[in-house]
Amino acid sequence: MSQLTKKEVLTEGKAKKIYATEDPDKVIFYFKDDATAFNAKKRGTIVNKGILNNRISQRLFRLLEENGIKTHFIEELSEREMLVHKVEIIPYETVVRNLVTGSLRKRLDRPEGEELSHPIVEYYYKCDRLDDPMINDEHAIVFGWATREELDSIHSQALAVNDVLKKFMLERGILLVDFKLEFGRARDGSVLLADEICPDTCRFWDVETREKLDKDRFRQDLGNVEGAYQEIMERVSRA
Ligand code: C5P
Repeated sequence: MSQLTKKEVLTEGKAKKIYATEDPDKVIFYFKDDATAFNAKKRGTIVNKGILNNRISQRLFRLLEENGIKTHFIEELSEREMLVHKVEIIPYETVVRNLVTGSLRKRLDRPEGEELSHPIVEYYYKCDRLDDPMINDEHAIVFGWATREELDSIHSQALAVNDVLKKFMLERGILLVDFKLEFGRARDGSVLLADEICPDTCRFWDVETREKLDKDRFRQDLGNVEGAYQEIMERVSRA
């Protein structure tokens, strides 16, 4: 177990605090219970969310590592904390979709739950002031957010993550509807999967009932948000 301790807060986001440590290449994530949606226009607290998201993210990062996908995850420090490699976050979010819902349904007026013949990868520029607008490869390159090589690496890593997660979740009775990933540049220049992978950042539906087991319960006031996160925790913990 690492002896590193929390130093100054580097950033505080909507769901996490990131602390420096004695090692300049390693930071500590602290997962909070605060929940926000619609670019922080809706705010609340989900009891134990930080504990559940920390545990779920760790399980999924380990799964990805076992399947040859490199991530920033190093080790668990406590029920709300994990040690990760420090990266320079690439300023766009990568979304992968397997079924139609959310902003894709609204934008193109497709039927809710329509199955996609193959996964769609989308990019969104991280900018609260502009409500995270969708961008394409050319925007990312022209505005200097990523190189062609980085974009290609992110695209193939995102699809690889989808293949591994989709299969793992389906074996546990969950449809992986869509999810958001963040990537960062490591010290050696490689592009590494970062951030978190949990019911805040993924849509999970029960395969039988299509019940939503993710943050849409908070976004849409469906109730039993903590129960849904707990259910995902239990299912990803199954052998
Ligand atoms: O809202 P939209 O349909 O574009 O979301 C696609 C996926 O990305 C969902 O799983 C959602 O939870 C996730 N997402 C996220 N953070 C954002 C926007 C979307 O985790 N800022």
